[in-house]
Amino acid sequence: MPHVHQRLTSSAHDRAGLRRHDDAWIEARWADAESRVLVVAGNRVHAPLGRIDWVSPHEAPAGVRLLLGEREDRAWFASILPAGQPEHTAEDGWVSLRGLLPVLTDDPTDSSLVLHAIGMAEWLAATRYCPRCGGPLSAAAEGHELRCTVGHVTFPRTDPAVIMLVTSGEPGSPEERCLLGNGAAWPEGRFSTLAGFCEPGESLEDAVRREVAEEAGVRVDEVTYFGNQPWPLPASLMLGFFGRVEDTEEARAIACDPAELREARWFTRDELYFGAASGESVLPGGISISRSLIEAWYGGPLPGSW
Ligand SMILES: [Zn+2]
Repeated sequence: MPHVHQRLTSSAHDRAGLRRHDDAWIEARWADAESRVLVVAGNRVHAPLGRIDWVSPHEAPAGVRLLLGEREDRAWFASILPAGQPEHTAEDGWVSLRGLLPVLTDDPTDSSLVLHAIGMAEWLAATRYCPRCGGPLSAAAEGHELRCTVGHVTFPRTDPAVIMLVTSGEPGSPEERCLLGNGAAWPEGRFSTLAGFCEPGESLEDAVRREVAEEAGVRVDEVTYFGNQPWPLPASLMLGFFGRVEDTEEARAIACDPAELREARWFTRDELYFGAASGESVLPGGISISRSLIEAWYGGPLPGSW
C-alpha cells in the first residue's frame, strides 16, 4: 500500500522533455484553446476558493513560458510571473504550496504539475546571473534551461536531502525504539525524524550516518532506503531511510548539537502512541515523508499532528 506522502506524486504527467526544443509543436499547442496554463507568481499559484485556476493560453498573463508536459491528450504549461507584485495576495486567491497541500492531498490529480511548476518558478527566481561568468541569463528549452550571452547553459537544480528514522532493539519487539528529535527552533513537544542535506561527493547512506552523528551523537550502522518526496521550496528531494543502531546503552547514548536540536528521545511504540494520543509529543503532518517513516515503523496510523 502506498504511503500517504506518495499521493503527491501518484499521478505524474508526461514531462515531454523531447518537445522542449520542438518549436512548431510548442506553438501549435500554445495556439490550442484546449491547452491549460497555470499562472505562478513568486511561489504562489492562483487557486481561489481552493480550486486551482487553469486558464487557456490566450487568457494567461505573459511571463516565462514553461512547458510542463502532456496529460489526457492536452499540453500543460505554466506562465511564471515575476515575484513580489503586490496584487498577488492571499486575499485575491494566490496560494502557496503549503496552503495548497490540503487541496492536493484530497485530490492529487494536479499535484505533480503543480510541484513541477513551483519548483521551476523557485529556480528561475533564484538564478539571476550565470554561475560561470556572472552574465545575464535568458530562458530556453521552454523554461528548463537558462543561457547566458556567452552560451553557458544552466539547468534546474535538485538538492538531495536525507530524512531518516533511526531505530534500535530487536525489530518488532516491545523494546524496539525509534529516535525522534525536537528542533532547536520548534515549540517544545514537537518531535520528528532527523534530516539534513547531502554534501558534495557524499553517498546518501554516509549522509544519513553523518547527520545523525552530528545532530544527536548517535552512531548508525545499517541504512536502508524507504522512499522519497519532492519538496521544491526551494529545490529539495527528500530521500527517506531507516537507520539501525546497535542495541547497547553506549550506542544509543544521545548528545544533541544545541544549534540543531533542543532534545532527542528514544520512543518505544507504546511511548510513541501514548505520547501522541495525550498530546505530550506532537508528530509531523499526514502528507510528510517523516510521518510516513514513523507510521511505517509503528505499523499503522498514529493520533495527532502539528
Ligand atoms: Zn556565462
